[in-house]
Amino acid sequence: MKAKAAILNGYNEKLVIDEIDVADPQEGEVRVKMRASGVCHSDMHVIKGDLPIPTPCVLGHEGSATVEAVGRGVTALKEGDDVILSWVPPCGNCHYCVAGKKYLCEHAQMAMLTGGSRLSKGGAPLFSIQGVASFAERTTLPASGCVPIHNGTSHDVACLVGCGVMTGVGAAINTVQIEAGQTVAVIGCGGVGLNVIQGAAIRGAGQIIAVDRVPAKLELAKKFGATHVVNSANEPMSGAIQGLTGGLGVDWAFEVIGIPEVITEAFMAVKRGGKVVVVGVPPMTSMVTVPGALLALAEKSIIGSLYGSGDVRRDMPRMLDLYAAGKLKLKELVSRTIPLEKINEAFDAMKSGEVARSVIVYS
Ligand SMILES: [Zn+2]
Ligand SMILES: [Zn+2]
Repeated sequence: MKAKAAILNGYNEKLVIDEIDVADPQEGEVRVKMRASGVCHSDMHVIKGDLPIPTPCVLGHEGSATVEAVGRGVTALKEGDDVILSWVPPCGNCHYCVAGKKYLCEHAQMAMLTGGSRLSKGGAPLFSIQGVASFAERTTLPASGCVPIHNGTSHDVACLVGCGVMTGVGAAINTVQIEAGQTVAVIGCGGVGLNVIQGAAIRGAGQIIAVDRVPAKLELAKKFGATHVVNSANEPMSGAIQGLTGGLGVDWAFEVIGIPEVITEAFMAVKRGGKVVVVGVPPMTSMVTVPGALLALAEKSIIGSLYGSGDVRRDMPRMLDLYAAGKLKLKELVSRTIPLEKINEAFDAMKSGEVARSVIVYS
């Protein structure tokens, strides 16, 4: 089936709107019609060549859609179902899935590294982020990567659960166990960082210190539950965090940008026994350095968080229920909605640090 899509033909190029072919669903797959897609920083990382997705590719990994056709053996979904697309479609059978860590699924990891998709143009394959390809009007992907929207949440906000909300809120409520009253710093207040902030608030964190270089993002962070803000363009982050915590540092520092030097500084900003949670993805070739003695003598540590350490079938419905209960902000994450044709403007806005999220809404 034909569909319109925004294609990245080469790194650091603008996306080009063109017609593509979408394969029919095979066993265990579904074809979906896209309804909405967030534009996430990880898409930008691919454009810049920092993540190993080959070109030409169709980006977009924060989508929601309506099921249009189901392949053989698919019983959990039917035509017409509204779904959130997960960029980790857990196989359910590998070592990690069986161990309850579906976000680390081996098969999904392999799919991520090869960047395959069921899309093509002129007979040549198009790559994608895990087959989600939410910058296309249609895509075909594993049914295990489609989570039903059970409570009627509208697509323009439900799509955000597919990456930013799952990743950010999940980091705060799944990856680590924040105790009520503990102190948290969140470094980077874009779409994911704001979700870490609201996740930390849900967990009952006391001080939540938001760090960014853009004043408008810090103002937004306050609306999501930040109790203090630090503009790291004006003052060194670790010193400011020490100052706000009586010289102790924070229990948890979430690094949501993916810059090695910032991870190092976050390490200096946690208290003895504190942890840095790396949510942002540093470039593949980068290394992170920290003062080695503090690992043992101060019992500091650095841990990673992938996709909010989540089980998407368990967690995504919970996020939608938290939204319905008024305990999770989703609408406030959307700074603009645009048609697919204006996608390059969304990346321009992201580069200027202007917005939380641009959301593409399909007609
Ligand atoms: Zn993302
Ligand atoms: Zn698996």
